[in-house]
Amino acid sequence: MYTKLGLFIGGKWIYEAKKGEDVLNPFDESVLGRLPHATEGDLNDAVKSAEKGFDEWRNTDPEIRSRVILRAADILSERISVISEVMTLEQGKPLAESAGEINQSIAILKFNGENAKLIKDKVVADRDNGLKTLIKPQPLGVCLCLTAWNFPIALVIRKIAPALAAGCSVIIKPSEETPGTAIEVIKIFQEAGLPKDVINLVFGVPHEISDYLLSRDEVKKVSFTGSVPVGKLLAKKAAESLKRCTLELGGHSPAIIAEDADIETTLDTLTGFKFRNAGQVCIAPSRFYVHEKIYDKVRDGFLNRIKNITLGNGLNDGISMGPLSNSRRVDAMKDFIDDAVKNGSNIIYGGSRYQDKGYFWEPTLIENIHEGSKMMTQEIFGPILALFKFNDYDDVIEKANSLNYGLASYVYTTSEVLQEKMAKEIVAGGVSINTASPMHPEIPYGGIKESGIGYEGGIDAIYSYIHKKNINII
Ligand code: NAD
Repeated sequence: MYTKLGLFIGGKWIYEAKKGEDVLNPFDESVLGRLPHATEGDLNDAVKSAEKGFDEWRNTDPEIRSRVILRAADILSERISVISEVMTLEQGKPLAESAGEINQSIAILKFNGENAKLIKDKVVADRDNGLKTLIKPQPLGVCLCLTAWNFPIALVIRKIAPALAAGCSVIIKPSEETPGTAIEVIKIFQEAGLPKDVINLVFGVPHEISDYLLSRDEVKKVSFTGSVPVGKLLAKKAAESLKRCTLELGGHSPAIIAEDADIETTLDTLTGFKFRNAGQVCIAPSRFYVHEKIYDKVRDGFLNRIKNITLGNGLNDGISMGPLSNSRRVDAMKDFIDDAVKNGSNIIYGGSRYQDKGYFWEPTLIENIHEGSKMMTQEIFGPILALFKFNDYDDVIEKANSLNYGLASYVYTTSEVLQEKMAKEIVAGGVSINTASPMHPEIPYGGIKESGIGYEGGIDAIYSYIHKKNINII
């Protein structure tokens, strides 16, 4: 069953509004519900409420803050099947992937709940002249969190959990395309005992909301997950009053398969990782560089595996890939393929829309891609696996580093010398060797170059919501 859609402001649900939008099921384009949009008055109320919430939450004992977050984790554990269904309905991914994302979110809540009580004052200097310097962690205040639609719960929890652990209050605007999952999260926090003003939830026209909220002095930080162009816009806006920013933006991650790679294991790892969430994953590998000595074997191995991907309604058993989340992604896939074919690329498998109804795109394998083609320079964010041949390791590292993105990267080799070289020379937020990217809650993750600023995950995420005030006493 789908969620009743609303805004949560000042501890009250608002279900009716003059303006709003329909939320669609990407599987068949049917309307799941009507999402109300916040008015400027609602946004003002959200700021006032969040200020009140901040006052209360910052003065709440960290032990109690910890307990609330851990209780939310427990309640979420009891709701996995209900919320998985909501997520699959509005986002399209298969139920098992929705459940996996919820389990990941539970782990993030637990990590932040446990660490909330460890954020303590610290004496850093105790000098001979009697000077004592005490570092007092101070929560920043009201934080604006803006998230994308590809991971409707994990992205929300990756922001809310550390913000609450730090003692901040939050105004969150999740994606208007996947609001139901976020609403379920807010309900859980209320049941877990979070004071009603500490989280406010709003939806609307995205740029109108961010323009208004970033113009308010009460808002001290913005944390955004989404595309590079929108990240830059928000950073500019935040700069007007020097609000802090955490930006988790796009990527175009290289996967380098060396001649000595364990081919079968590599193919299994990469096929699963590439087509998870129909390729709509910021850290998904998207440029596959294969050594020429093993190229044909790798290409055939990918083809055999891709043929076994079953498309359909994510609610049904046996489905390994659902639809794309929205019609924009279908248009983008068509544009990438048309451009690549025009430039002489060879489609080995797929390459078209699947079914007229719903936002499906066939899992696609393509080769002979021209260096300057759109697929090579713009984030693919979809189920297209693009193969390139290489024969020189320095050259392939240069290619891997050639874009303005710097999020994830992947290397498959049994050579320790090559592992070390790649880990050192690839310019990215992370280098995964013979594996996919583990997104465990204790690992800080962040992009470099235009892929972002700051970290989510780990204790670093909590500190990104904290100012360290030093108190010097003699
Ligand atoms: P997008 O930037 O257009 O939208 C992302 C979210 O931001 C949506 O919820 C949208 O409503 C909101 N948004 C858009 N314009 C806004 C504005 N002016 N003010 C406030 N909010 C605004 O991106 P998209 O194409 O819909 O989403 C996919 C992008 O997100 C990809 O580039 C992907 O790599 C990125 N992403 C990054 C990470 C990461 O951790 N680095 C994780 C998930 C997605």
